[in-house]
Amino acid sequence: MSTELFSLAGRTALVTGSSRGLGRAIAEGLGRAGARIVLNGVSLERLEAAAAELRAAGLDVLTSAFDVTDEPAVMAAFEGFDAAGLAIDILVNNAGIQFRKPMLELETADWRRVIDTNLTSAFLVGREAARRMVPRGEGKVVNIGSLTSELARATVAPYTVAKGGIKMLTRAMAAEWGEKGVQANAIAPGYMLTDMNAALVSDAAFDGWVKGRTPARRWGRPDELVGAAIFLSSAASGYVNGQTLFVDGGMSVVL
Ligand code: NDP
Repeated sequence: MSTELFSLAGRTALVTGSSRGLGRAIAEGLGRAGARIVLNGVSLERLEAAAAELRAAGLDVLTSAFDVTDEPAVMAAFEGFDAAGLAIDILVNNAGIQFRKPMLELETADWRRVIDTNLTSAFLVGREAARRMVPRGEGKVVNIGSLTSELARATVAPYTVAKGGIKMLTRAMAAEWGEKGVQANAIAPGYMLTDMNAALVSDAAFDGWVKGRTPARRWGRPDELVGAAIFLSSAASGYVNGQTLFVDGGMSVVL
């Protein structure tokens, strides 16, 4: 099989929430496959630090700091790309937050914050990207969902609802934009070693549960999402649309 199928040379990829964690690993992977990468996050300090490291590794890196829940900020960022003559060919909607609290104690504001950051953000950024991809007749959207789009777990209700929404948003994007040459697919990670899970990794009971429940018998590494991200961002996935690819060490398929 030709490696050109997986080449991203000449492409520009915006990865939201790429100052650290899964987004950063995905951005680096897309960069190594040839793409110019646009890093995003809220913390300027973390964003610039990540950009400096990836530039030092020889990658073509731009930064765009904006809050993915802030509609005017999202629109302004894309207007900035337009003004700079920068066309986003690949969008990875990755930015997200986790918040653990039983529903009986959950404030409505926290529910809204989790839904906004994990789901509405993908609509907002996806819409701005697609407004430019559709007229060009091509583009790839990769939404980062979760194993929890399928399996509910106590204390993370708005998160699982948002990730279930990501699965259907991905299908809706495919349904509306497929005939325009724009594809949308999702990656659903399992339990991965990032800041988001730092407290859980150091909780021996939770750590044991993850390892016992996952056929791989371990947590996933952020770089283990790169293959799926390159596939869904490249010509290799030319006839794949609206799908969710689970990268979870097999956790979603066993009891
Ligand atoms: P991290 O907490 O490690 O990183 C989150 C990233 O998102 C940071 O770059 C952060 O930027 C950015 N971010 C958060 N809120 C916003 C916002 N409002 N606007 C812009 N950027 C924002 O998370 P992970 O890497 O673990 O998770 C990434 C994605 O993967 C999320 O969607 C998460 O739900 C999903 N996921 C994670 C799993 C895991 O096990 N880790 C499993 C399944 C899905 P900043 O540095 O500025 O705060």
